[in-house]
Amino acid sequence: MPIQPIRLFGDPVLRAKAQPVTDFDKELRRLVEDLTDTMLEAPGAGLAAPQIGVGLRVFTWYVDGEAGHLVNPDLTLSDQIQDGDEGCLSLPGLKYDCRRALSVVARGFNMFGDPVQIEGSELLARAIQHETDHLDGVLFIDRLDDAARKAAMREIRESEWFGLDKPTVKVSPHATRGFAL
Ligand SMILES: [Zn+2]
Repeated sequence: MPIQPIRLFGDPVLRAKAQPVTDFDKELRRLVEDLTDTMLEAPGAGLAAPQIGVGLRVFTWYVDGEAGHLVNPDLTLSDQIQDGDEGCLSLPGLKYDCRRALSVVARGFNMFGDPVQIEGSELLARAIQHETDHLDGVLFIDRLDDAARKAAMREIRESEWFGLDKPTVKVSPHATRGFAL
């Protein structure tokens, strides 16, 4: 199935608030499939729809050998916290210690519109928080303390991928049946 280009820091789609899914249709199922395939190919532990240029509240994860997805997530975070390295497919090469809730209960829907509840801790909880942030236009570097965020911004400016011409955005990745235009 089609692997999509991953949008990089600097692309405005990563800063836009994604819209709730209202149609649990074939197009949504294709989006989940594209997200899953693109995430596994990267490889990454999670991928949110805005990262492939789609402004909908959908993300996937791949943690401990299990892939999953969630639509229109609503999170309840634990008071306990975890520290640890975090990275992002939209910020290639960057890794910074990022504080997150240790565990999370995520309510939402699967791609068929059935209500689901996902409970996760440690890496799964980190992935779910990171991906839900993407749906609100928030990146993990926003959650770092001032010194770390400045170091991250410096690293971004010096990275070879930053400032390259962005690929043209198509409204639907499927409209041309996979032919590049
Ligand atoms: Zn990310």
